[in-house]
Amino acid sequence: MLVVIIQCEDVVKRCSGFLCMNDFYEKIGKFENYSDDVRYMAITCGGCCGNLLTPKLENLGMRLRKAGLNKDDVVIHFASCVCSDNAHRLPCPFMNRMKALLKRKGFNNIVLGTHVSKKAEEKRRAGIYKKWE
Ligand code: SF4
Ligand code: SF4
Repeated sequence: MLVVIIQCEDVVKRCSGFLCMNDFYEKIGKFENYSDDVRYMAITCGGCCGNLLTPKLENLGMRLRKAGLNKDDVVIHFASCVCSDNAHRLPCPFMNRMKALLKRKGFNNIVLGTHVSKKAEEKRRAGIYKKWE
């Protein structure tokens, strides 16, 4: 199995993605149920409005095929900075569009979220940030 994290093109200009990577290896946040043999990679959405995901997904599909892997063995995680209200910004307004692009390209295993920030969770509980969808 392969986990592919989709990060916001804007947010990664100021985020290294360390916390997503660390949570994956520590099996915390949205990664708690993966076994040790699961690999991961991260890509960005390519910028608003997510259209550049299409060629990236086509490239990924081709690479998977050549590696003898199947799209059903891939789980796509939208990074928390894409799909939740958080310190960086409001949730991405193009989420549904990007989900549709993924499904059109045959990637049907989609999870919302990666690293779960404790501070952001507190603000969700306090009603300052919107709750997870
Ligand atoms: S969820 Fe956090 S650590 Fe992961 S890419 Fe977004 S801002 Fe960076
Ligand atoms: S489409 Fe969404 S995730 Fe991508 S850069 Fe724009 S706001 Fe960020």
